[in-house]
Amino acid sequence: MNRQAANKRIRLIMNLRMQGITDTNVLSAIERVPRDYFVPPYAADQAWEDTALPIGLGQTISQPYIVAFMSQALEISDRDKVLEIGTGCGYQTAVLSHLARRVYTIERFKDLLEEAEKRFEELRLRNITAIVADGMKGWPRINGIDQAPFDKIIVTAAAREKPPQALIDQIRVGGKMIIPVGGMGEQMLKLYQRESEDAYSVKDMLAVRFVPLLPDVSDEKNDMVV
Ligand code: SAH
Repeated sequence: MNRQAANKRIRLIMNLRMQGITDTNVLSAIERVPRDYFVPPYAADQAWEDTALPIGLGQTISQPYIVAFMSQALEISDRDKVLEIGTGCGYQTAVLSHLARRVYTIERFKDLLEEAEKRFEELRLRNITAIVADGMKGWPRINGIDQAPFDKIIVTAAAREKPPQALIDQIRVGGKMIIPVGGMGEQMLKLYQRESEDAYSVKDMLAVRFVPLLPDVSDEKNDMVV
């Protein structure tokens, strides 16, 4: 890494601290993940700025502050099994992989997932399992094996009115889920805590702007979000 890139990285971490990201595990995970790997080549010089950037197919890489905020809110431990919905370019996934024991991630665009998997391979992030599926249905049973329930669930696309029930059902009792809820321009990041089999609490955390959570696996031709 050249000196300018190193300086930009340090500046980003300092900015996150000033904005209230105090969890040192989260800060060091952000510092360790080379964000320039995850953005298209033309945006590489903006990779260490605290902004969302386009990644193709109408999708975006989240702003580092939001990635850090969501990771911190979940209080992830290195014993946790985490489910992520909305892999996108895989940036949040990579940050999670430094915090959790294992990360399961679902993306509905096959092309995005394949690119993300190449990055995980290059960066030798070996505790990630990634699939193409509809994340609104939760993690599916694969070859007779269930991974649910999860200690933590993170959804990086916005649910229109409320979280899909399948995701609430896959939170372990005592576990947490963070998810943006609401329509364009009026989304709220909500933190769910599952208190028992049939009770959970909800806390409003932050006003945000995410691309929408869409049903089904994408056929790539008909449902570009622009
Ligand atoms: N986590 C990413 C942000 C991705 S943007 C990051 O670190 O930057 C949101 C992603 O959610 C998009 O790639 C979109 O295709 C995906 N998505 C939307 N609805 C989905 C669904 N039902 N299942 C899986 N992925 C979905």
